Amino acid sequence: ALDADFFRRWLSAVSAAVDREAERLTELDSAIGDADHGANMRRGLAAAVAALEEEAPSSPGAVLTLAGRRLISTVGGASGPLYGTLLRRAGKVLGDQESVEPEQLREALHTGVEAVAQLGSAARGDKTMLDALYPAVEALGDSGGDFGAARRAAEEGAAATVPMRARRGRASYLGERSVGHQDPGATSSALFFAALAETAG
Ligand code: ADP
Ligand code: MG
Ligand code: MG
Repeated sequence: ALDADFFRRWLSAVSAAVDREAERLTELDSAIGDADHGANMRRGLAAAVAALEEEAPSSPGAVLTLAGRRLISTVGGASGPLYGTLLRRAGKVLGDQESVEPEQLREALHTGVEAVAQLGSAARGDKTMLDALYPAVEALGDSGGDFGAARRAAEEGAAATVPMRARRGRASYLGERSVGHQDPGATSSALFFAALAETAG
């Protein structure tokens, strides 16, 4: 089972990965956006991790909910409310149980990803973070514990955004010129799943 400490370690690992990859995220966002995705993610995750250290929530659900709230309150860009909604909604599904099974994590993430799609009025194939998030959650499998498969699916999903034309977010303003570039948000989503596999392994 996965406890609050596992979720805290997961989000710390996401924050570390985002720090390492911030330049790449910003470079991707400079091609089809406004060159702030690396900075947005760094600021949001650092604030989330700091809040988790300070408040030390005692359940997985409370960890995700607090991190989600911090992302929303500290990130000005679209990614803040989107990732914040993902984590808050997932946290709500997990409630205040002291520990959760991987199947429950998969269900919670699935609900969170659907909430992102609804908030962003976006679907798979629109060249957004959803193109990494949906395949990753599916690849978690029936057990919910196929973290390595989810990591690979997220990375493949992010790579698959290259030939897509953006239909949501800033990149959509470019129309046809958004083709040929990897979506920054799909790339940061892959970091969430890489960090999950790292934390579990
Ligand atoms: P902003 O575009 O406001 O500067 P960021 O650069 O931090 O915000 O995040 C951009 C990423 O957010 C995109 O690469 C995309 O993955 C995601 N995104 C933007 N709009 C939407 C949307 N409507 N639905 C889903 N994801 C979106
Ligand atoms: Mg941006
Ligand atoms: Mg911006």
